[in-house]
Amino acid sequence: MSEPVLTVEGLRKHFVTTTGVPRRRSVTVRAVEDISFTIGEGEAFGLVGESGCGKSTAARALLRLVEPDAGTVRWRGQDVLAARGAQLKALRRRMQIVFQDPFSSLDPRQTIGAALAEPMRVHSLATGAEARRRAAALLEEVGLPPAALDRYPHEFSGGQRQRIGIARALTVEPELIVADEPVSALDVSVQAQVLLLLQALRRRRGLAFLFVSHDLSVIRWFCDRVAVMYLGRIVEEGPAARVLTQPMHPYARMLRDASPVPDPAQRGVLPRIAGEIPSAANPPPGCPFHPRCPQAMAHCAGSLPRWTALSGGQGGVACHLHG
Ligand code: SF4
Repeated sequence: MSEPVLTVEGLRKHFVTTTGVPRRRSVTVRAVEDISFTIGEGEAFGLVGESGCGKSTAARALLRLVEPDAGTVRWRGQDVLAARGAQLKALRRRMQIVFQDPFSSLDPRQTIGAALAEPMRVHSLATGAEARRRAAALLEEVGLPPAALDRYPHEFSGGQRQRIGIARALTVEPELIVADEPVSALDVSVQAQVLLLLQALRRRRGLAFLFVSHDLSVIRWFCDRVAVMYLGRIVEEGPAARVLTQPMHPYARMLRDASPVPDPAQRGVLPRIAGEIPSAANPPPGCPFHPRCPQAMAHCAGSLPRWTALSGGQGGVACHLHG
């Protein structure tokens, strides 16, 4: 792997919420617990897991869209979490996010041209006619006509809005795109088009990606390396080709076996992962996967498995079977 552009170490994010009727009480939701990974220059790194595993919170925390509680995040060696003011603004330009629902990040009263010009103005890259020229070129790059500049978000389909979201992320010429479930709200046929667009942009611009998804088939197609998350922790990490075909962690294996396959004839008969994902407000002791794990041993409920690095650049796994 090339020299990392992004290094995340021990990232943690808890939320305190109130719950209960009639007696309200505070609970701590342990959304992200001590996760570490790196992303190399131009590399696509996937974070995969079931809904509620903490992958989107982890992505937002490293961008400081939510402030992490602990850990370090370095962009080309620079401390992202300590950055303030102009330094933070410069770092944010390097790392941009594409959301699952770009509609929520677009002002419905603002034309697409204005929405694309705004980040260029904020980062002092271009204003006026030059910003409009650049915005038109970006729209063309994502497959939309220049006439889209003078239209409003509601005039576009979901797939087109996602293309606008991608164009908006590109306005500031980032080096890393955090793509948070970027195709999961789209129809299957549109998903493929948007994925092909992201892949083409990645190649053409040399972009690195943090690709967050619950969909293994999407991660398998797009990513070089992948980390599997469960209840706020990374349980296995390594080259996508290995982790998604020969996973070592029982949870990663169950995810693989429950993942849709390209053959439509086999869909619908695939096993589901047994049991519900426990609440991050009350995670099980020991290995957090032990209540659902078909290979759980007596000591799994009492001790958290350590991270075991695999040889030959094959990543690592956190499971007593391999410790
Ligand atoms: Fe299963 Fe034990 Fe491994 Fe956890 S540590 S995944 S419970 S075998």
